Amino acid sequence: MLKLVDVQAHYGSIHVLKGITIEVPEGQIVTLLGANGAGKTTTLKCISGVIQPSGGTITLEGAPLNGQAVETIVAKGIVQSPEGRQIFATLTVEENLMAGAFTVSSKEKIEALKAQVYKWFPRLAERADQVAGTLSGGEQQMLAIGRALMADPKILILDEPSLGLAPLIVRDIFAIIKEIKATGKTILLVEQNARQALAVSDYAYVLETGLIVHEGVGHVLAQDERIKAAYLGGHIA
Ligand code: ATP
Repeated sequence: MLKLVDVQAHYGSIHVLKGITIEVPEGQIVTLLGANGAGKTTTLKCISGVIQPSGGTITLEGAPLNGQAVETIVAKGIVQSPEGRQIFATLTVEENLMAGAFTVSSKEKIEALKAQVYKWFPRLAERADQVAGTLSGGEQQMLAIGRALMADPKILILDEPSLGLAPLIVRDIFAIIKEIKATGKTILLVEQNARQALAVSDYAYVLETGLIVHEGVGHVLAQDERIKAAYLGGHIA
């Protein structure tokens, strides 16, 4: 569905992505793993149109995305739940969700999407009228994912959904990501939390200093000695 072929990116004279080739097939969870500074966010910025790649091609269902505006790419169905959450702190939970549906015109569709989001995240339903800035970190993460889902994306991009969250909440979030996938959604997950991410992934890529250095089926990579040593603290639970 989404394909990046030999994508390169520069910040001025700094060569940050040195030829990234990744594929996100329909209905799968694909994970991009990498340490701080590996180029994960830059890869997402290239996909969402925030920066233009200096080389290579990005296609959605075969049609090129390079050079298109951020809004056009969102309208085509690539929607990101950003790192650091970035919800609208002064709006209520429900208002945040409604803001996410700006690309959807049918009222019935919006109501159906909202009902689905509240089903996945009952905690958000309980707090529909609460001001989002007063939610816990985990609830804010759920709201950010819920808001992205309100756009009914073809591809949902999750940028470090476990960042800064307690282990029990992380477990809940990953369980919901699996449920979302089970409804047929295509998900590109960017994570530093290799253990949880590999456990839910169909396929994963490991990025190091702008290059893909390993790739493979999620549970196979999780058993790879090099991945274990570098990303899983030498063992996997
Ligand atoms: P993190 O997990 O810390 O967010 P990341 O894998 O997302 O890391 P990127 O943010 O893509 O990494 O950064 C990749 C490299 O590009 C880093 O060396 C970073 O310093 C550099 N970089 C990122 N943004 C800019 C910028 N605007 N100008 C110059 N260099 C940048």
